[in-house]
Amino acid sequence: MRHESNGLLLKGKTIALVPTMGYLHDGHLALVRQGRELADVLVVSIFVNPTQFGPGEDLNDYPRDLNRDIELLAGQGVDFVFAPDAASMYERNSETFIDQRILPNHLCGVCRPAHFRGVLTVVTKLFNIVKPNTAVFGEKDFQQLAVIRRMVQDLNFDIKITSVPIVRESDGLAMSSRNVFLTSQQRVSAQCLYAALQKAKVRVAQGERNSQALIDELIDFIQSHLYTTIDYVSLCNVDTLESIDRIKGATLLALAVRVGTTRLIDNAVLTP
Ligand code: AMP
Repeated sequence: MRHESNGLLLKGKTIALVPTMGYLHDGHLALVRQGRELADVLVVSIFVNPTQFGPGEDLNDYPRDLNRDIELLAGQGVDFVFAPDAASMYERNSETFIDQRILPNHLCGVCRPAHFRGVLTVVTKLFNIVKPNTAVFGEKDFQQLAVIRRMVQDLNFDIKITSVPIVRESDGLAMSSRNVFLTSQQRVSAQCLYAALQKAKVRVAQGERNSQALIDELIDFIQSHLYTTIDYVSLCNVDTLESIDRIKGATLLALAVRVGTTRLIDNAVLTP
């Protein structure tokens, strides 16, 4: 991959990278279409990164279908699929990891303590291998996008980060490779994440400004759906991800809910 990238850069070509863990859906393909617009050459990486999974998480069960992914990408004008295996990405016992001090201490970082360290490390490795001018990430993983933007700024990566809005199923469920794990009954319950976001928008439009009152209402609503266990319902500052007490400016509503054993996340920016 590096050999290819060096050759392309020497010829003056620009490179866009779309990092994924594969088992692609229309959400990923929206990133791919965006990437296609941004550079001469489009690289999609497919790598289920072990260092971002904690003990007891679904690393081994994470859905994979490389042949299907490659077929999908071939229809999207992708120039390279970079799909390394874990042994070649982490050849030696790594000594070096990238971490952040504060942003990972909120939201998903609370339940998944080493997750963003794994994400930042693998994204750095992918950036150093693929050498993109630009990289595309989804707003579904809002905190991931925030930590990556911050890393790029802090460490002077010469890479433009572009984000793409959340792509949803027709009933509102955010597309995710993990949705395949939901049983048909759980799939119905899973609609409550998007419904909770919509409900919050209505409550804010009606004048609700008390963060805890809104969170309590959303927790009750989500818990009224079968199979749900809440990891967090959080209202926070869109830049720092710190919890807020009152909804004043644009505020991030972020949800993580397990439906059965499948952990789903979703978010929306609420504007009073
Ligand atoms: P993943 O394969 O789940 O690691 O996701 C790879 C990239 O696709 C990340 O930047 C995600 O934020 C993005 N992505 C995943 N699902 C969606 C979605 N439903 N809408 C928009 N972007 C998404």
